[in-house]
Amino acid sequence: MKLFQEDVPFYRGNFHTHTTQSDGCKTPQEAMSAYREAGYDFLALTDHRKVTGVEQAPEGLVAIPGIELDYVLSNQWVHLLGLGVSPEVERRCMPRGSVQEGIDLIRACGGLAVLNHPAWSLNTPELIASLRGLTAAEVWNSVSTLPYNADRADASSLLDVAAAQGAVLPLMANDDTHYYEQDFARGWNMVQAWEKSVAGILTAVAEGRYYATQGPAFRQVEIIGRTVRVSCSPVERIVFYSNVPWTPDRCSIGQGLTEAVYELTDRETFIRVQLTDAQGRNAWCSPVARQWIC
Ligand SMILES: [Zn+2]
Ligand SMILES: [Zn+2]
Repeated sequence: MKLFQEDVPFYRGNFHTHTTQSDGCKTPQEAMSAYREAGYDFLALTDHRKVTGVEQAPEGLVAIPGIELDYVLSNQWVHLLGLGVSPEVERRCMPRGSVQEGIDLIRACGGLAVLNHPAWSLNTPELIASLRGLTAAEVWNSVSTLPYNADRADASSLLDVAAAQGAVLPLMANDDTHYYEQDFARGWNMVQAWEKSVAGILTAVAEGRYYATQGPAFRQVEIIGRTVRVSCSPVERIVFYSNVPWTPDRCSIGQGLTEAVYELTDRETFIRVQLTDAQGRNAWCSPVARQWIC
């Protein structure tokens, strides 16, 4: 199996953005302009408990409607994105029920549900593994680190534990932009879509055709039998992560690496690849469950 198609374009975008319609400091129009000027192809506006309307997106930018729902549990918080959701979600999420009901509501309103910043929220792997109907989880959330928060932007270890417990979720990187300074354009998604439109981008997300990055680019991840073969832009580390704590030869380290190969062991129930470049920026492909490999 190959994670990426040979002849389908990649589009760059951020799925998690706040504006003056909730607690972000730019108007929807200013937010869309800022991302378009930074070279983005799409942007989801995801204000708290509100589906922000878009009058006119800048030329070349696909604006995706969205919302962020929030839940406070006894020892953790849970925040969900609803991407492509219809505005009726606003009315129906009050009064709010359980997290699972929130996921079900987003889906019933035509949206895709994403688990936001699970490390920031102190989510447990057990909670994550209990949820049904999530389309993805944020592996990186730009605002969930200094100077705005303690350093919990990177949820990769937590999501590996959840994947080991059976919740093998595709991974997104999003800014969760509020301040448009140090939370701007620090993590994004490269989505392989047949069509540069809301429907084209969201269909690709629903089908898992994307990777998350801060800079490095995946060219291909191919799995044939036990052999996982990765090609990428030049990086200094290519590391294969799975449910097994130790396996041989899972790390390739050097300068200008553009490929690596790994042999799956019998005990591995999922595999994912992470790239790190010379500036310390990461790219994450989504984990692949063993049973999905032909
Ligand atoms: Zn949040
Ligand atoms: Zn947010």
